[in-house]
Amino acid sequence: MNDLEFRKTVLDPISTSFCAAKWYNATIWLGSGQTTSCHHPPAHAIDVEDLKINPAALHNTAQKKDDRKKMLAGDRPAGCEYCWKIEDMGKDSISDRVYKSKIYPIKDLSDAYNTPVEQDVNLRTLEIAFDRTCQFACSYCNPAFSSTWVKDIRNNGAYQGLISDGRNHFTHDHPAAQLYKFGEQNPYVDAFFKWWETDLHRTLQELRITGGEPLMSGHTWQLIEWFKNNQGKSQTKLAINSNLGFEPEKLEEFIDAIRTLPHVDLYTSMEAVDTQAEYIRDGLDYQQWVDNVQLLLESDSVKAVHVMCTINALCLDSLPNFLHQLLEFKQMYGRERVNFTLNILRFPSFQSPLVLPDHIRNKYKDNLQDFLTRNINNPYLQEHEVNHLQRLVDYLDIVKTPHSDAFDMPKLLNDFRQFYTQYDQRRSKDFVKAFPKLKEWYSAL
Ligand code: SF4
Repeated sequence: MNDLEFRKTVLDPISTSFCAAKWYNATIWLGSGQTTSCHHPPAHAIDVEDLKINPAALHNTAQKKDDRKKMLAGDRPAGCEYCWKIEDMGKDSISDRVYKSKIYPIKDLSDAYNTPVEQDVNLRTLEIAFDRTCQFACSYCNPAFSSTWVKDIRNNGAYQGLISDGRNHFTHDHPAAQLYKFGEQNPYVDAFFKWWETDLHRTLQELRITGGEPLMSGHTWQLIEWFKNNQGKSQTKLAINSNLGFEPEKLEEFIDAIRTLPHVDLYTSMEAVDTQAEYIRDGLDYQQWVDNVQLLLESDSVKAVHVMCTINALCLDSLPNFLHQLLEFKQMYGRERVNFTLNILRFPSFQSPLVLPDHIRNKYKDNLQDFLTRNINNPYLQEHEVNHLQRLVDYLDIVKTPHSDAFDMPKLLNDFRQFYTQYDQRRSKDFVKAFPKLKEWYSAL
């Protein structure tokens, strides 16, 4: 069944806002004691008191139960705006509501529908972060998710003159993201391991560890050890989100640790090539990333490498080149062993592709359309990849994507210039050198 048929015949009859991710999927940040389902809606706090008697409250919070109730009634939870915006582009638009529901058996969807909303639900897919330790400080990240970003703010102070960033991502070091110091007892981490040992390892289909950079967290290695020592006890597939910013020796250590595990997937972020990629993702060595992807695939220790492209204003210039690189990987290692998703950045909104002037945005759209036209029948591209490309082309199309009222362009352009001017100074970078095609527009901001 294709994506649209699935939406029309399976999801919409339950309700036009039903999404299985609200029941079966969660992202949980144990450092800050927060969660959300799926990863798009803003995070909310987990009640630490509830955890004392019920570690499953890491996922089944009062807010999620309320959102489930809304979805069953056909109402749209406000936090899921990412999907509503895409669905409102046209009656046949496919949002993540479809992709994130389609991964579960249809029986699970009707079970969700029939479960009383006050009842806890067992997770099927979980993304978990132990802490924010990370050696990168990407431009679209912030101190809540990267200890290197924390250092930038602590060493250089707040970014000045940002007026559109209502969430103040770049003005403080986000102490709430790390409630407990290194070595201190963290009740959220304790609850997770308790839940894992008693229950979760039996019901969870996929456990994805994110960060920070998870390979820099001792808890990640603790879980890998658990899997090694308890083979056959759990059917949970393990997935790791890694920036792959390591020397080959360190990566070999990881490869050795997971070699005997039956199913490990590797997720990694990238969306541009060479200098442009290194500009966007501060700390990256692009060639090292390419080499590490190959090392992983050649080692046969991972089932697949999933590349998550965060579509921001700066990646569009070299995104088609990057897609060619991915096609090359696919040809070398197999269609399913390397795959990608194109995830449109929303925050910080001044880094959105929508800040670009129409003539540049349209040019980038044409380049992507050209890539899509040439590759629409390429046997290495999967259906969801073609759909993601098409939805990005539509998103960049100024005719199809009118600016929303909330999109205050003068403020965003101010922040774009302010942010990258300071980013250049703090990180010893050069915007104009990295993006010569944007020079005229950027210099006039
Ligand atoms: S409706 Fe969209 S944003 Fe909400 S949980 Fe589902 S996939 Fe995520």
